[in-house]
Amino acid sequence: MHALVIGGGIAGTTTAIALAKAGIDATVHEAYDRDSEGVGGWLTLASNGIDALATLGLGTEVTAHGFPTRTMRLSNHTGRVLAEFPMAPERPDGLEVHTVRRSDLYRVLRDAATARGIPVTYGRRLVDATPRPGGGVVARFADGELVEADLLVGADGLRSAVRTIIDPGAPAARYAGLLNTGGYATGVTLPPRFRADPGVIEFCFGRNCFLGYSVAPDGSVWWFANPASRQEMGRAELAAISEDEWRRRLHALFADDDLPAALLIDGSDHIFAGWNTYDFPTVPTWHRDDMIIVGDAAHATSPASGQGASMAIEDAVTLARCLRDDGSVAAAFADHESLRRERVEKVVRQGKRNGTGKTAGPVARVIRDKVIMPMVASRAAKTGASPSEWLFGHHIEWDAPV
Ligand SMILES: Cc1cc2nc3c(=O)[nH]c(=O)nc-3n(C[C@H](O)[C@H](O)[C@H](O)COP(=O)(O)OP(=O)(O)OC[C@H]3O[C@@H](n4cnc5c(N)ncnc54)[C@H](O)[C@@H]3O)c2cc1C
Repeated sequence: MHALVIGGGIAGTTTAIALAKAGIDATVHEAYDRDSEGVGGWLTLASNGIDALATLGLGTEVTAHGFPTRTMRLSNHTGRVLAEFPMAPERPDGLEVHTVRRSDLYRVLRDAATARGIPVTYGRRLVDATPRPGGGVVARFADGELVEADLLVGADGLRSAVRTIIDPGAPAARYAGLLNTGGYATGVTLPPRFRADPGVIEFCFGRNCFLGYSVAPDGSVWWFANPASRQEMGRAELAAISEDEWRRRLHALFADDDLPAALLIDGSDHIFAGWNTYDFPTVPTWHRDDMIIVGDAAHATSPASGQGASMAIEDAVTLARCLRDDGSVAAAFADHESLRRERVEKVVRQGKRNGTGKTAGPVARVIRDKVIMPMVASRAAKTGASPSEWLFGHHIEWDAPV
């Protein structure tokens, strides 16, 4: 069996690696003309995502490049701590949430694909795909080449072409009302009132902008900011914002807060190019004929969930198990969807709730600080069992039959 994987991001590369483990050949076709070395900021990789990576022998290879993130602390614009929680419930296998640079994660995945002999071609944009008579798929790329395979996996992200090939009526992603930028600050000493304990990720509700940061073992501070923007910005419009302009805007947004934002902005050599953030409440059709979508193409979640990459990795491993065990591609796709849909849509709903709190107005801010947060904190202190066990405790038993 041969699979075409469209998209060489987290979902695509991991899918190809998982398929190889299941004994299925795959080739990865990535639209960009080069790999993503050095691209992008950082992300938190949840313990459930690391569990899924571990089934492919890549858990410690990835976490070795990052650092454990055990606690999340929420503060308001005055720096007052509103609540503090464990990032995730403890797992019997000891796996923990880690913070990693995107480029390190991509490099480990790319090297693992190369080591397994998986061909990855760059500068190959899929434009169309049609079912082959008698089964399989014919894919057409922008360079005009036609490639045949037994199945096609669309791991082509938020603006997935495969999603609309499968279902021309598929919904577009929902804009989440927030932009995202950030940086890596070096040589910065945070005053003690800003705490900066190892293993803690600080989330601060600024008056006008949300700030997140964590101190890496080398003392650098990895941070992001979420300026609210009612309007979704065009790609060209975002690209036209220079680093200096981002610095100016961020300084202005945090000017009235008692947060370390200015230190972080000034301590960073580069400010990440801005992104819009999105999610999908639901994508009704994940597969048709011998084509399926995985990762953000099927269920992008707001970055506020901290789970998008982990969901993509879980998808990859689950789909490979289904294709290994089921008698047909159709049965495997159906099993994959039944194992995945409820879980990923619950994550999307949770991410939406987390993201909404980032843009509170003056009244909502008081309710959040005086009513909601104390309630949440006391509930978390009282309950022994973590309410997010279902999410972070997820384990994929590779050897078990589907
Ligand atoms: C600001 C921000 C912060 C985030 N923080 C976190 C976090 O802390 N933790 C977390 O788990 N997740 C986080 N996420 C989400 C996470 O980044 C995504 O869920 C994850 O990258 C999805 O991977 P993917 O491979 O499905 O999609 P993508 O990473 O988008 O990859 C899709 C790939 O397909 C390629 N492609 C597109 N169209 C075609 C085509 N027609 N032909 C060929 N190739 C194509 C693209 O070039 C791209 O390389 C964050 C996201 C954002 C935007």
